[in-house]
Amino acid sequence: MVADIATALSVVINSISDIIKNTKKPNIDELELQDQLSKVSYDLIQMRIQATNLLSENKKLKEELEKEAENPLTYNGHFYRGTDGFPYCPACYDKHKDRIHLKIPHGDWAFLEKYRCPICGEEYPQVD
Ligand SMILES: [Zn+2]
Repeated sequence: MVADIATALSVVINSISDIIKNTKKPNIDELELQDQLSKVSYDLIQMRIQATNLLSENKKLKEELEKEAENPLTYNGHFYRGTDGFPYCPACYDKHKDRIHLKIPHGDWAFLEKYRCPICGEEYPQVD
């Protein structure tokens, strides 16, 4: 994506150079200049959309890195566990990097029940 913006920027710079050269011609074709300016405007709008998408993606990735640094997860073969001690759903984390705490069973027979994800519904054995 970054290469696409760099290429698009080169095209826009070249187009602007051509427009400047055309304005110096003795007989300026105004319709051609307007057409060239319209194309440059369109290219700039497309680049702005790409840049906005990249900034949004970059922000999301930074947030994920910050979460990872604050509470790194380890995998025990069944589920992830963070430094907070609670288990996280591997299906949700592996699919979307969503950190979903698994529901921990309560009650007299809780030790027989499995951890359950409240989002995707997957169940995992209670092992450390
Ligand atoms: Zn899940």
